[in-house]
Amino acid sequence: MNRRNKPVVTKETIMGMEDMSYFIHAMIFDDLLIIAQKETNCFVLKTKDGLIVIDAIWPAKEAFEAIENAIIDVGWNPDTIRKLIITHGHVDHTGCGKWFVEKYHVDTYLSRIDDIVWREHPVKPDRPETWKDYNIDHYIQDGDTITLGDKVIYVYSTPGHTQGGLSYIFPVTESEEIHMAALWGGSTPPWTEDGVKQYLESLDYFMKEAKSKRVDVALTNHTAIDNGLERIAYSKMRMSYMPNIYILGWEGFQRFCEVFRTMSYVVLERVSK
Ligand SMILES: [Zn+2]
Repeated sequence: MNRRNKPVVTKETIMGMEDMSYFIHAMIFDDLLIIAQKETNCFVLKTKDGLIVIDAIWPAKEAFEAIENAIIDVGWNPDTIRKLIITHGHVDHTGCGKWFVEKYHVDTYLSRIDDIVWREHPVKPDRPETWKDYNIDHYIQDGDTITLGDKVIYVYSTPGHTQGGLSYIFPVTESEEIHMAALWGGSTPPWTEDGVKQYLESLDYFMKEAKSKRVDVALTNHTAIDNGLERIAYSKMRMSYMPNIYILGWEGFQRFCEVFRTMSYVVLERVSK
């Protein structure tokens, strides 16, 4: 049986990141909500002391409203949003954060390196609407933890996609069972040989840490990586006897990480030509 081992990333994928005509969301754990447009997604983690938003899709009011509406739709209260945690300083993750800062006065988190890159080297220098538009309150780095209520998010420096890229591990719950979820923050490898080497070292490091944290849930912030739209659609319509499609176990998580390795080899082949 033929199974794909790498995502399809095309020009359309990049253009799709700015398409705000389509959003979908689903509760994928009792305390984790995913919201996606066509190509990029974010998460909302519920704690006993409020909500944490992880990544913020795109600097568009539609994205902000989609996240707010999803929170209301699942019966949570957006007035309890306390924190916004960003994986890396690219515009498709810093996204609509300024509205969370303005309306909900959230505490914001990112690495110092990526905050500087976001400010000084915007991804789209000719488009002011994508430039840095809110402050980061907390610079985080490898080994840090972010705590709210009953939840602790573990922070890992995983440079490669960006120099200050971060990945996270945190607990999620389904039917009172706790699982450990890993979010690899920088999806695609960079286009240089040294960059790919660093990216793969970060991946090895993150997998080692994930093993020690007994990770069994794989998350990503781009839908092309994990057939995200299909996983979300499945989760929305999931019958009670069906498995949670995000729980892969340790073996499954390792295979999930192979996708990033395969993408890296594709880049290495091309840059060495
Ligand atoms: Zn990026």
